[in-house]
Parts: sequence; C-alpha cells; structure tokens
Amino acid sequence: MSTSAFGYIVLLGAPGAGKGTQAERLESDLGLPHIATGDLFRAALKQQTELGKLAQSYMDRGVLVPDDVTIAMVRERFTQPDAAKGAILDGFPRTVDQATALDAMLQERGAGVTLAPYIKVTTETLLSRLAGRWVCRRCGGVYHMLYNPPAREGVCDSCGGELYQRSDDTPATQLHRIEVYLSETAPLIEFYRDRGLLAEVDGEQNIDGVYRDLLERVRRATQRPS
Ligand code: ADP
Ligand code: ADP
Ligand code: ZN
Repeated sequence: MSTSAFGYIVLLGAPGAGKGTQAERLESDLGLPHIATGDLFRAALKQQTELGKLAQSYMDRGVLVPDDVTIAMVRERFTQPDAAKGAILDGFPRTVDQATALDAMLQERGAGVTLAPYIKVTTETLLSRLAGRWVCRRCGGVYHMLYNPPAREGVCDSCGGELYQRSDDTPATQLHRIEVYLSETAPLIEFYRDRGLLAEVDGEQNIDGVYRDLLERVRRATQRPS
C-alpha cells in the first residue's frame, strides 16, 4: 500500500539549530512544501518590494519582524495550492501570538498543527553552526564550511549558484538573535508540549543522525494510507 504525507509540521529550534537543513530533506522525502518565513522575507527583499524593505530593517538588527506583517505573509502563502495538504513550517511561528494565529488559520481549513519537532542544541553549538553557515544565492541551499561543505568552494552543489554568508550571521547579531529566541520563541516549547504535540530531537548529532530521528517522528505523525 502506498502512503502519502499529510499534515502541518512546525519545526522548533534556535537560530542555527538546523531547521532549514532538515526541512529541505523533509520536503523532498514527504512531498510537503518547505515554508520558511526568513526565506520569504529575503525573497521579498531581493525583489525590493515594500514588504522586503520593511523586513530588512528588523532582520539587520536581529529582531523579529512585527507579528501582523509576518502573519499576513504566511496567510498569503497558505493560499497557494501546494500548501493544501500540509507544510513544513520553518521559523514560523516565532511568538505565542503567531502560534495562536496559525491555529486559527489551520482551523479555517479543518486542520491543525500535526507535530512540533524541537531540534535541541546548546548555545555553543548554535554559534559554531551560524559562524560557518553559507547559503546559495540562487536556490537557498544551506551549507557549512566544516560540517556540510560544498564539493567546490563557494559553489552550490545542486544548482551551481554562488554561496554567500548572510549579513545577519555576524557575531554580534547572532548573539542577539539567540537572546530574542530565548525570550520570544522558546515559550512555544511549552505551548506545544501542553497540547501534546512536542517531539524533542537531539540536535547535537550530525545532519544524518538528526534527520533519522526527526523523520521517524514525523513519519509516524503524518502518514495516512492512500
Ligand atoms: P535563522 O535560520 O537563523 O533562524 P531566519 O532565516 O529564520 O533565521 O530568520 C531571519 C530573520 O527573519 C529573523 O532574525 C527575523 O528578523 C526574521 N523572521 C523570520 N521569521 C520570522 C517570524 N516568524 N517572525 C518574525 N520575524 C521573523
Ligand atoms: P536554522 O534554519 O535552524 O537556522 P540551518 O539549517 O541554517 O539552521 O543550519 C545552520 C548551520 O549549521 C548551517 O551551516 C548548516 O549546514 C549547519 N548544520 C545544520 N545541521 C547540522 C548538524 N546536525 N551538524 C552540523 N552542522 C549542521
Ligand atoms: Zn543552489
């Protein structure tokens, strides 16, 4: 019997925990779209839209873009047909108000959050992951100069695009983003634990190890016979 994935997965974890890296893999294995609010803001910025310019002023300082702006952007993204049977949410929600808005948005379509995997790592690990992060300018693919290097330095393995370091991956902004995470986003761990949706995953393992644990939890929660 074939199976297909169905459900809305909320990836929790601090900046640099590995959410984007894992979400890329889940997307290709489960056939659910990877929706990353950071990527949506960066795409808007590249196109120099009003939304992009507004978001940049917050992103550069390592603080959160206001909830109303972020929620409206996600609501818009959810109207696209690929999100009809589920999605892998990466970097959203980041506040309790965003989580409440997400519940309401999903309820409108007769759905809800399926699972909230929490990729748990120490602050020391976060800093070494952020410091070595390189991202593809063309496809958004994520690399690390030590832990996940591209075959050719500075060049994306999957699309040949140029790799760059994000302007908010500087040491000062990194620390600030982790502080913002602890005060505004970490409360979501209890939010989802209280609802019986939290799945803790040991994020200190290498990328394959984290993925093995994560996929097992996500598969169990999302697979329906078809
Ligand atoms: P990281 O992968 O390092 O956690 P992201 O790419 O997810 O970073 O986010 C980069 C920046 O975009 C954040 O520091 C914040 O300014 C903004 N941002 C992304 N998602 C959200 C969100 N859900 N709410 C508010 N701001 C967000
Ligand atoms: P997030 O989306 O949570 O901010 P990323 O997926 O961008 O995190 O990962 C941050 C950096 O750490 C990237 O350079 C990525 O290649 C690297 N990375 C991700 N997961 C691991 C892991 N399990 N072990 C080592 N490095 C990792
Ligand atoms: Zn690429």
